[in-house]
Amino acid sequence: MSGSVSMLRPRAGNPATRPELTDALRASVEQKATAARELLTATVAEFGGDGAVTFANSFGAEDMVLTELILRLGLPIEIFSLDTGRLPGETYDLMSRVEKHYDTRLKIYFPDAAAVEAYVRGEGINAFYESIDLRKRCCQIRKVEPLRRALSGMQAWITGLRAAQSTTRTGLPAREFDEGNGLVKLNPLTDWSENEVWAFIRIHEVPYSDLHDQFYPSIGCAPCTRAIAVGEDVRAGRWWWEDPTLKECGLHVKG
Ligand code: SF4
Repeated sequence: MSGSVSMLRPRAGNPATRPELTDALRASVEQKATAARELLTATVAEFGGDGAVTFANSFGAEDMVLTELILRLGLPIEIFSLDTGRLPGETYDLMSRVEKHYDTRLKIYFPDAAAVEAYVRGEGINAFYESIDLRKRCCQIRKVEPLRRALSGMQAWITGLRAAQSTTRTGLPAREFDEGNGLVKLNPLTDWSENEVWAFIRIHEVPYSDLHDQFYPSIGCAPCTRAIAVGEDVRAGRWWWEDPTLKECGLHVKG
């Protein structure tokens, strides 16, 4: 297959990022934000502060909601990110804005350089388009292995996953045990709608990626992400050449 149409930037003004802030929407957002704050606070109380609870921030809209909640609450939750080396420029721009907005310094993990070099020399610079196996090997090197390092020694990790994001996330609980990584996984936004995520971002003036305004609801690596059409599944722009019931990067596999 060819993945050469990645990262199309067709138009700006995605209406999904600007929901009408009705009283009902504001009320549901506040209710869910309160529940998320309580879950985050209870998680710290259960597992302790320093070095026990971490949040994987990939700078999507949901992760920006959690960044705002965690940093405004001042909870001792570590926030880390994975730089695969193939992220879109807009994500680096957002990283920089986040550091300034919250007066913080990001903790970023990079893939093992020797593993990336061996993969690229052996398979090619864009080998992930050639087969699912090669795509998963790339994700393993650039995402999964650095994630393991980031989670090492932690007791719980927090993600911005939502149940409605894709068929692979249907029924996602707010709390589960991550067998693969051997620790508790919290998904405080699992029952949030896309509308509620964007309403929270607008109400609290949270920084977000410019790509969301260009019809990218889900943002990952540049060559494996594209814009979607109105009405398409929000994860349709990720690894769009693969079976939608199977495509995950390995960071969030079900046990
Ligand atoms: S999303 Fe694409 S470029 Fe990024 S790690 Fe996975 S296969 Fe590689």
